[in-house]
Amino acid sequence: MRYISTRGQAAPQSFADILLAGLAPDGGLFLPESWPQIPAEEIFGFAGKRYAGVAFAILKRFTGDSFTDAELREDIEAAYSDFDAPDIAPLVQIGPQHYLLELFHGPTLAFKDIAMQVLGRLFARALAKKGGKATVVAATSGDTGSAAIAALGGLPNIDVFVMHPKGRVSEVQRRQMTTAPFDNVYNIALEGSFDDAQTIVKQLFADKTFANAAHLTAVNSINFARIAAQSVYYFTATAKLGKAASFIVPTGNFGDVFAGEAAMRMGLSVNRLAVATNANDIMARALNTGVYASGAAQGTLSPSMDIQVASNFERALFEASGRDAKWTADAMQSFSRDGSLALPPSILSALRARYSAAQASDEETLAAIARVHRDTGRTIDPHTAVGIAAAAKMGNALQAPLVFLSTAHPAKFPDAVAQATGQKVPLPARLAALYDGVERATVLPHDLGTVRGFIEERLHPA
Ligand SMILES: *Cc1c(COP(=O)(O)O)cnc(C)c1O
Repeated sequence: MRYISTRGQAAPQSFADILLAGLAPDGGLFLPESWPQIPAEEIFGFAGKRYAGVAFAILKRFTGDSFTDAELREDIEAAYSDFDAPDIAPLVQIGPQHYLLELFHGPTLAFKDIAMQVLGRLFARALAKKGGKATVVAATSGDTGSAAIAALGGLPNIDVFVMHPKGRVSEVQRRQMTTAPFDNVYNIALEGSFDDAQTIVKQLFADKTFANAAHLTAVNSINFARIAAQSVYYFTATAKLGKAASFIVPTGNFGDVFAGEAAMRMGLSVNRLAVATNANDIMARALNTGVYASGAAQGTLSPSMDIQVASNFERALFEASGRDAKWTADAMQSFSRDGSLALPPSILSALRARYSAAQASDEETLAAIARVHRDTGRTIDPHTAVGIAAAAKMGNALQAPLVFLSTAHPAKFPDAVAQATGQKVPLPARLAALYDGVERATVLPHDLGTVRGFIEERLHPA
């Protein structure tokens, strides 16, 4: 299995190479040269299998000869050994034809752990085989940072720089990152939005001298390994239901919902992929109006989705164009120049054949948390609630059964939950020490040179 870039200017590479690289050298995103196909009988056979076993069956097809079966199995088993649900991604019925797919049972209580726990282990293994060092720079809207720290903290030969938008993540999210006791982890509180942080990361990659000297890499959802690992729960949920479902996906960077497209391209039967956004509704507007245009990021009750530029949309555009790398490269260039891109009718209809989209306001989000709490006794987090509220607007476009991706534990967002239900969410045992730890973070302006200088000083102390 080789990997190509959505912009067509990178030589095909192995899984280990793209795992360690993150972003393609031409600025594009990696995808498999062709999608592995999983036969329907095998998919329905997943129903009785352990999650780690299904993950192995799927990831094996992507990793090719980068790892032996024994290595891959060992890393996947270890990755899922610290989840507090034996099922890893339990499917919970909340109403007739309505299910929550709970993805928050890992060490940092958001779905990012499901992929990051595997990625961290494979990354360390690939790096050890290749030799040398790596510098991970991650922009986070709140959950990627702690998941990356939990997966990579304390590992040899890897330095981890995590940039979160100052004051725009929840206190629990911030403390999960800043109290991490690892010498190889540096937290940057960036004065700006998530998009500002993501732009700086992209600029650091574009600075080839710096990027090569620092062995820069990315573990956010531009790293294809994340997408591959996240495709697994679309399979396990469908196998458990025994029939095709519509998946409602709270969306920011378009990584999680694109993992659903990946599953479909591997042969999984899915009714609709529903893109749910908060007031930062660039993706809902793109799919509904045909114009992909960024606006100013606004703070909402679902901060992990306060994103205006959805990096992984590039992968969906590449596929929708029939894998036309030239068109994709031109389109991304004009989007980055103009801040807006009118989608040609053929591309839009290819996207709409699979995706529906709607946005939900903070008010609607709170109402959804309150409604689910009243009707089912369950407390959901504000990101999950965006999915519930947005799906209600999509109505008949979504064919049942409906599977709502529940992307975070409500304890990560206690204020929003209390506002909706009047109740406090008890802090899970894993976070018991969260308020005792000493916080370590450096506040930096959103300025490329300053951030680059900060990283250089830490990599090469005087
Ligand atoms: C990251 C995140 C999302 C958005 O996922 P994308 O892959 O960026 O679309 C949604 N909910 C939560 C809780 C998250 O942490």
